[in-house]
Amino acid sequence: YSAKRQTSGPLVYDPSIDLSSAQTLSLMSELRLAVGEGQLRLFLQPKLALDSGKVMGAETLVRWQHPVRGMVPPMQFIPFAEQTGFIRTITMWVFEEAARHWRRLHSEGLRITLSVNLSTRDLLDPELPQKFDSLLVKHSVPAEAFCLEITESAIMDDPQRAQATLDRLSALGFKLSIDDFGTGYSSLAYLKRLPVDELKIDKSFVLSMEKDADDAKIVRSTIDLAHNLGLSVVAEGVENAKVWDMLRDLNCDQAQGFHMGRPMAASEFTDWSVSWTARHRGSDGESRTML
Ligand code: C2E
Ligand code: MG
Ligand code: MG
Ligand code: MG
Repeated sequence: YSAKRQTSGPLVYDPSIDLSSAQTLSLMSELRLAVGEGQLRLFLQPKLALDSGKVMGAETLVRWQHPVRGMVPPMQFIPFAEQTGFIRTITMWVFEEAARHWRRLHSEGLRITLSVNLSTRDLLDPELPQKFDSLLVKHSVPAEAFCLEITESAIMDDPQRAQATLDRLSALGFKLSIDDFGTGYSSLAYLKRLPVDELKIDKSFVLSMEKDADDAKIVRSTIDLAHNLGLSVVAEGVENAKVWDMLRDLNCDQAQGFHMGRPMAASEFTDWSVSWTARHRGSDGESRTML
């Protein structure tokens, strides 16, 4: 394995490969280099309020600008980073970059929340809340500016330790979201006990809700569950206007998807936001008929 020999094809971690194999060590050193040499990129994808069309926030999504392979999507290196524990380094990079961008976007007039994805390994790091807090101080950003997205499986991996970390993050002021909701095995008892603010309905249900009545029912029930628990609910994977309308009629709070905005370089976000607002909210800031 080397970057030269394999210029295409996924970098995905193959569980059959020994973690001490030459291929793994090579990918590991490439990934270390990626952080050291500044090859990681932070992309932002907008989150919109369904009732008003207002830009509420953005999810931070990492990419690897590889010198040979080009833009590598996260699914080709995040699972590997999770296996090896290197995800902790990536998470710190993402969070600091997100803090920098939030400060810049704020100075450009944007009042939004940035969502950052956390992995199991992050939740098992008892020092994570303290590390995040130090970065907030360093960049003078409030914890309330961030929503941390955690999957059900990351929580259920070690519920006690996850809860301890999440309690501390919540006490610092971070908002918390359950990502890919409906695909894992979280128990409703945990949902009740954890300091969660938001549920994010997995895109597998949202993508097909216009054609599949069962998926539409799952989406509807999840929205009701969230609201009954006092949580905000976001649908990811909105690819057309029909789904946007269905979600709005079901009282879903926010939507994220290719129909409104794809993940974009963080430097493009302000322009995108200004032009979205001009197209969909009128000069008086009032919402117009959507899309
Ligand atoms: P996720 O956290 O569930 O992020 C949402 C994914 O859905 C993103 O894929 C986004 O581009 C995609 N998506 C959004 N709207 C649509 C749509 O309308 N249609 C379709 N087909 N897809 C849509 P992406 O950027 O490839 O990221 C994939 C996953 O990689 C993320 O899923 C997350 O689990 C992981 N990931 C990405 N960035 C990070 C990161 O910084 N840290 C960690 N730990 N994981 C990350
Ligand atoms: Mg996410
Ligand atoms: Mg998700
Ligand atoms: Mg997902």
